[in-house]
Amino acid sequence: MTKQIFLKLTAFSIIAFTLTSCDSNSTATKTASTNNNPFEAQVDSILGLMTLDEKIGQLNLPVSGDITTGLGTSSDVGKKIQDGLVGGMFNIKSVEKIRAVQKIAVEESRLKIPLLFGMDVIHGYETTFPIPLGLSSTWDMELIEKTARMAATEASADGINWTFSPMVDISRDPRWGRVSEGNGEDPYLGSRIAEAMVRGYQQDDLSENNTLMACVKHFALYGASEAGRDYNTVDMSKIRMYNEYLEPYKAAIDAGVGSVMASFNEIDGIPATGNKWLLTDLLRDDWGFDGFVVTDYTGIYEMMAHGVGNEEEVVAQSLNAGIDMDMAGDSPVASAAFVKSLKGALDKGMVKIEDIDIAVKRMLTAKYQLGLFDDPYRYLDSDRAKNEVFTDENRAFARKVGAESTVLLKNENNLLPLKKEGTIALIGPLGNNAVNMAGTWSVATNQEKSNPFLAGLKTVVGDKANVLYAKGSNLDYDLELEQKATMFGKTIPRDGRTDKQLLDEALSIANKADVIVAAIGESAEFSGESSSRTEIGIPQVQKDLLNALLKTGKPVVLVLFTGRPLELVEEHENVPAILNVWFPGSEAGLAISDVLFGDVNPSGKLTATFPRSVGQIPIFYNHKNTGRPLMNEEGKFEKFRSNYIDERNEPLYAFGYGLSYTTFDYSNLNLNTATIGMDGSVEVSVDVTNSGDYDGKEVVQLYIRDVVGSVTRPLKELKGFQKVEIKKGDTKTVSFKITVEDLKFYNSDLDFVAEPGKFHVFMGTDSNTKMMKEFELTK
Ligand code: BGC
Repeated sequence: MTKQIFLKLTAFSIIAFTLTSCDSNSTATKTASTNNNPFEAQVDSILGLMTLDEKIGQLNLPVSGDITTGLGTSSDVGKKIQDGLVGGMFNIKSVEKIRAVQKIAVEESRLKIPLLFGMDVIHGYETTFPIPLGLSSTWDMELIEKTARMAATEASADGINWTFSPMVDISRDPRWGRVSEGNGEDPYLGSRIAEAMVRGYQQDDLSENNTLMACVKHFALYGASEAGRDYNTVDMSKIRMYNEYLEPYKAAIDAGVGSVMASFNEIDGIPATGNKWLLTDLLRDDWGFDGFVVTDYTGIYEMMAHGVGNEEEVVAQSLNAGIDMDMAGDSPVASAAFVKSLKGALDKGMVKIEDIDIAVKRMLTAKYQLGLFDDPYRYLDSDRAKNEVFTDENRAFARKVGAESTVLLKNENNLLPLKKEGTIALIGPLGNNAVNMAGTWSVATNQEKSNPFLAGLKTVVGDKANVLYAKGSNLDYDLELEQKATMFGKTIPRDGRTDKQLLDEALSIANKADVIVAAIGESAEFSGESSSRTEIGIPQVQKDLLNALLKTGKPVVLVLFTGRPLELVEEHENVPAILNVWFPGSEAGLAISDVLFGDVNPSGKLTATFPRSVGQIPIFYNHKNTGRPLMNEEGKFEKFRSNYIDERNEPLYAFGYGLSYTTFDYSNLNLNTATIGMDGSVEVSVDVTNSGDYDGKEVVQLYIRDVVGSVTRPLKELKGFQKVEIKKGDTKTVSFKITVEDLKFYNSDLDFVAEPGKFHVFMGTDSNTKMMKEFELTK
């Protein structure tokens, strides 16, 4: 095709081609939801020109080889692009590289269709924010949206137009490494975050050159992998899915997310990638999604290992189920892929050309939405890359967000905030390490440029205090485990000295100090993909270090790095102050130090329950009562009641928990009415007083309990929250409105209904709150 024809194709107003194969979808199995697609005519005219190979090519998403995950990398990609056999690429970094690849597509391929460029822009780009679990702990939707906005600006300045985020998988299992990538255990909070992220990435117009198309993942239920083992089987009732797991995905769809990624797990015995109920009946027919669905990495190929068919069968099943794009299918290890077996499946009548056409149309539509047909180089401006990535302004914001995400778990006798005076000993393997600070899934970060704790501490105290440092220990005694937990360049170099030598040095430094700050916990890759754990404590060598530090009799602050809820019973008993910092991102050291010295008052609240022991997992606040709940308030063991003989029922730290340097008192919980009808609403208010010595922020949380239902209902469900700033001594009245919509749930027919009866309204500082008032919903 000549350049002139390409230009015609790219002009929105000109449709210069006769349609051949694509007009009728009457026999298609897939749902052809191209609702009011403004690009329909252009898309159809291109489709009419395409050969079968070129069509299948649009559905092919090879990995670039720049940054690889999963099982393999593809090769010979340039030639494939020339031949029109590639629809997009992912994880290529830099305008120059992306421009070179896009050039092949739009100047050397027959139809000159531009490529999508995707990346795992998960919690920031080069400027990295806290890991998503940490970000969710801010409970600040404006802040979270702004992180996505900034990530989109940076990534799009660097040539990316599509991100594999937000990850909204609800998880109640901290053994699963990927809890770090999600927003915790609550569907209501998870939904608000999903919306904020989609808005932040996409804004109102995807064709703006500073937006990214978002991709909600992993659809669906990936966070419920059995035993917390990654990629494992998921099995749950529909009623649980609908009430407890699906809402955040739907929230992203309702917020207009452009794409969806299928998950690795099975649902009702059928891998999500080939699950027509999931990808078509629910996603498109019920929820009205009209973007495109991409597999996860080699997801189609993996259906063979799941045991649902051979190459052609799994390819056919996934296309027919609703997959549009095949990620990494063309890598050498994947023997089943659209590019490898879709033609064969078509020849054998296992798929219909109309269904291939629908998938192709969705891919072309996405490219129109991104403005790529108008200008395939619109995201490729080297000046933007120079001026908009990792700027001082963005880094200052990352510092703020890092501090906001910290959760103060314990603060005996107000040990924190520390004073900027005397001698401070920073001790621990995470104390002076740049490359772990951004945490897992931070592929675009320049890890070396992250701000280590020691440097941040020194900057923040300036010449007011003397800072000493010792590593104290390696990450773990077990070298093999240590290697598994320090991949992708996120090393903590193993020290040549013996454990005893490291410890002796640490103790001699600690003994010179007035206060000890222990920087310990997990490394970045202790959590994340394929980093499930069966024990979720602090690694033993660091526990031993911590205990030795405590024995000095000096005050010890535990600054805890982690990508998951950890089991911390012993630390909670013995350490006077615990500040959980997750992985705070590229400005980690400064962000943590801002909190340690009280320049920022911590206000993060947990979004995932911290268990007392692994045996309590799955553990979550919004559980049911059972027929035999414990009857005593103290949680003491009772025979023939639902509890354990060797552990309490309640967690160590509940959902919503997090302390502040100040204290907040709640009073005057008020409901404006005791009864509402089916179209009514309740105004709820509460007075929150800052009764301590510092200005601070509080996350005011509202929970409801539907006391009697046609199906059992949770003891508490989050239905509202507000993060408010209150000066010391001040009182703020915080108001919420509960509508009938908030009272609805899926009943056993999976109808979304509100049932008349009593509702309890709880208000407080965390999910343990007992402050309660009641109202009734009447017919
Ligand atoms: C992960 C996805 C990710 C994809 C692309 C997969 O292994 O499960 O979350 O987006 O790789 O890197």
